[in-house]
Amino acid sequence: MDYAGRRDRLRRLLRRQGLEGLLVTDRLNVTYLTGFTGEDSFLLVWRAGESLLTDARFSQQVEEECPGLEVVVRPVGSTMVEAVRRVVRKAHVGLLGLEAENVSVGFFDRISARLSGVELVKTTGLVEQLRQIKQPEELERIRRAIGQAERAFGAMRAGLQGEKTELQLAHELEMHVRAFGAIGSSFSAIVASGERSALPHARPKPIAVGLSPILLVDWGANEGLYQSDLTRTLFLGKISAKLRRVYQVVYQAQQKAIAAIRPGVPAEEVDKAARQVIAQAGWGKRFGHSLGHGLGLAVHEGPRLGPARGNHSPSLLRPGMVVTVEPGVYWPGWAGVRIEDVVLVTRTGHEVLSSLPKRWEEVIVETRP
Ligand code: ZN
Ligand code: ZN
Repeated sequence: MDYAGRRDRLRRLLRRQGLEGLLVTDRLNVTYLTGFTGEDSFLLVWRAGESLLTDARFSQQVEEECPGLEVVVRPVGSTMVEAVRRVVRKAHVGLLGLEAENVSVGFFDRISARLSGVELVKTTGLVEQLRQIKQPEELERIRRAIGQAERAFGAMRAGLQGEKTELQLAHELEMHVRAFGAIGSSFSAIVASGERSALPHARPKPIAVGLSPILLVDWGANEGLYQSDLTRTLFLGKISAKLRRVYQVVYQAQQKAIAAIRPGVPAEEVDKAARQVIAQAGWGKRFGHSLGHGLGLAVHEGPRLGPARGNHSPSLLRPGMVVTVEPGVYWPGWAGVRIEDVVLVTRTGHEVLSSLPKRWEEVIVETRP
């Protein structure tokens, strides 16, 4: 990974904003700029250099993960604020950006008190905007995370029986994800059967999944740095015509949205493409969340694929963005259906990175009598 190149791109952004330096406190932003995966460490980037502020617990890990990076290991008993103060002074930064969405009010107060003479500027989304555009080596890792999640799902599905519970299946899924090389799940797997599928963030329960015809599974793999995020809704047993129609509308909505993905298109247009299909079926109010989100070091990052928000200028899709497309409709007390895939915006259009079967015939599970 070209961490130095990323820091150079950040420096260009800082220059454009008139900032002399940025204190990167968001853990994943630090990882993005250095490759360091530990906690409690900040990165100061200024015009002529950078310095990772960490403590003795991580000094060996920094050496392994970030060879050549300038590191300040703060001594036991000294505070992070003190370490920041020293490095900021040494780097002669007079106008310092702080990540407003990440810094606590307490830290802000302490650092303001200790950095007299330094002007502090609250910044938003500087590193995050770089993270939206994936480089080839990042795409390779996202593809790996998707592959691990898909193989895990295949293994779980192969052993699917109606007497297994949501909890058991969630456990199997997470076990298989690791067996296929991931360091863990991107988030606790959602396995929701029956009316529980109407809860978009249902937690698995000790309920046998064969008691109802719907089984919604939302899961992902963490391959080490990068994440995946997929959803499949499966059907088993006696399936009503209404349920089949619901699935087909959600499927259509997803197809329409994916087809709308190409560079230059406002993210909200993609959301609208799916929302129209669902509204035409008369279920507009049942699709109560955004269509999708960016995916990378975090399971949820920019850009957001959702309806326009009042005063926000629309974000345009650009080549290298990776987004989920996950329309869903939910009837509390009856059913929920969602389908989620991962899509890359390419120079000429898009590429769907995930490949698990999802046509109607393919989501029907044959369970033994
Ligand atoms: Zn998901
Ligand atoms: Zn998602």
